[in-house]
Amino acid sequence: MSIEPSLEDIDLRVRGQKIVSVRRRAKRVLMELESEDTFVIEPRMTGLMLLDEPPSEAHLRVEWRLKGASGTKRLWFWDRRGLGTIRLLDPEQRKEVLGPTRLGPDALEISEEEWQAICARTTSVIKVALLDQKKVSGIGNLYASEILHQSRISPETRACDLKRPQIQRMAEATTEILNTAIRYEGSTLSDGTYRNALNKSGGYQNAHRVYDREGQACLTCERGTIVRIVQGQRSTFFCRVCQRKPRRK
Ligand SMILES: [Zn+2]
Repeated sequence: MSIEPSLEDIDLRVRGQKIVSVRRRAKRVLMELESEDTFVIEPRMTGLMLLDEPPSEAHLRVEWRLKGASGTKRLWFWDRRGLGTIRLLDPEQRKEVLGPTRLGPDALEISEEEWQAICARTTSVIKVALLDQKKVSGIGNLYASEILHQSRISPETRACDLKRPQIQRMAEATTEILNTAIRYEGSTLSDGTYRNALNKSGGYQNAHRVYDREGQACLTCERGTIVRIVQGQRSTFFCRVCQRKPRRK
C-alpha cells in the first residue's frame, strides 16, 4: 500500500499532535490535526479503519496510538489487498488533492440543479458517470446499481439523455440509499471483507435489491429477472423490465 510521506516524516510531524476532527470526504476519511496537517485515508477495496482488534496480524499496515483522558487507544489501518492509501497533507496539498479538479461534489451534498447540469454535459452512460469521482464523488459500484434501480433508470442510458423527472428521482434515490447505507454501516458481501470500525459486519447487504442478485426475480416489479452486465470493467446489476432503456430518437 502507499503511505506518503515516509513513516519517519509522518512521525516527526504528528507526534503529540491533537486530532481536531474526523470527517468523511467522498470515499476518504479525513483526520484533521491541530497543526492543520490532515491525514487523508482512502481504504479502496479492502482497507479498514478499525478501533477494535484487526481481523488478523497479517495485512496490518499502520497503527496510531491515541492518548486521551481515558488512557491510550489504538486505531489501525488494515488492508488485505493493500490498494489503500494514507497521506499526510499540508493545507496546500490538501486543497490540490481534494480540490474540484480531482474530486467532484459529494453525492450527499449536491443539489438537484447540480445533478441536472452534470448530466447535461456528460455523454457517457449514467452507470459509468455515477462512478466517475471527478463528476460526483462518494458513490461506490454497488450503490450505483441500487440507485439506478430505485430511480427506474436503465444503466445503459447516456447521462445527457436523461429526462428532468428521471434526474429528480436519481437525486432522491442517491440521498436515500447512501444515508441508509451509512445508517446500516455499509455492506458486507459474501467475501466478508468489509467491516465497520468495530470489526463487525455492515447491515446494508440485506437491503440490496439488485446488487449480486443475477438470475433472481426482480423484487420491485416481480416480472423481470436481474441481469448482470459489465460497464467500464465493473459489474452492473439491473432489471430490464422496470429499468427500460429509452428508444433512440
Ligand atoms: Zn423489475
